[in-house]
Amino acid sequence: MLIVMRADAPEDQIAAVCARIEALGYEARPIPGGQRVAIGLVGNDGAVEPGAFISMPGVKQVIPVSASYKQVSLEWKATPTVVTLPNGARFGGGEVGIIGGPCAVENEDQIMAAAKGVAEAGGVALRGGAYKPRTSPYAFQGLGPDGLRLLAAAGKAYGLATVTEAVDHRSADLVAEHCDVIQLGARSMQNFSLLKYVAPLGKPIVLKRGMAATIKEWLLAAEYLLVGGAKDVILCERGIRSFDPSTRNVLDVAAIQVAKALTHLPVIADPSHGTGLRAMVRPMALAAVAAGSDGLIVEVHPDPSVALSDAQQQLKPAAFAELVKAAGAIVAVTGGRLSTIG
Ligand code: PEP
Ligand code: MN
Repeated sequence: MLIVMRADAPEDQIAAVCARIEALGYEARPIPGGQRVAIGLVGNDGAVEPGAFISMPGVKQVIPVSASYKQVSLEWKATPTVVTLPNGARFGGGEVGIIGGPCAVENEDQIMAAAKGVAEAGGVALRGGAYKPRTSPYAFQGLGPDGLRLLAAAGKAYGLATVTEAVDHRSADLVAEHCDVIQLGARSMQNFSLLKYVAPLGKPIVLKRGMAATIKEWLLAAEYLLVGGAKDVILCERGIRSFDPSTRNVLDVAAIQVAKALTHLPVIADPSHGTGLRAMVRPMALAAVAAGSDGLIVEVHPDPSVALSDAQQQLKPAAFAELVKAAGAIVAVTGGRLSTIG
């Protein structure tokens, strides 16, 4: 439930509403807005009587939030959330941020070359896994803490924010210590223990859609993060499983619009895992931004032929630069603009 205060409601009236919410055993979450303050009532299962609030001084409207995900919903917050990273990169509200970088951090030369290519192309953030969730236990598992340090150094050298996956509580602490954004991968989207652990760490979070997750399940996973205290959550469509092996996954371009019609959170797309095929990455990246994506996360490797993971879907820096240029042209048609650093 959302209690909307009048624009001129003074602090003591807002405090009185918060006190009544708490007296009923719920948590009050004031949400300051441009025009007025709204107060969210957290912890109810839909059974709170609006009459308890509607006659209180300063209350303009009581809105029951019908969606099962509440804080991520547009009913809760009608304006788009814009996630700003420490280097000024922005996602949402018409700004489209582009993240590039290898599937995995492999060594210093590789990540430095990737960072250079990403920065020169106009990317705003550097990705690179240090903890890789691999299907086979024999496949390259990532460099762990050394990978985080190399990623952080490369990001710093080129002014790029850093994005990398956490797979458990321990790696989440290390990612939060060394990097700017915690990525939760498709395989972890419904690891509720991890969602709860990562939520209060104070970092922006990229939440990938599970490969067989409905949009509602994805939004409920994001709800775990907001309930747990996260503010800056970016949803990432990365393709879903289908019966057809032609592509690795099916990038669900429509999901971008479906999600944006339901949530204020920014939604980005991953055309690399979404297709698994180098030649398909650029067309699907462009389709995603045409469909209103607030950003892209694209795998870029200085020499994909020697990549230790996902070799067949990584772009060379020059191809990534062309992708960014074309994405900029499409974003302009949609009325948005590519985010820059600073
Ligand atoms: C990744 O981005 O490195 C990754 C493993 O992606 P996903 O979780 O979408 O499979
Ligand atoms: Mn990958």
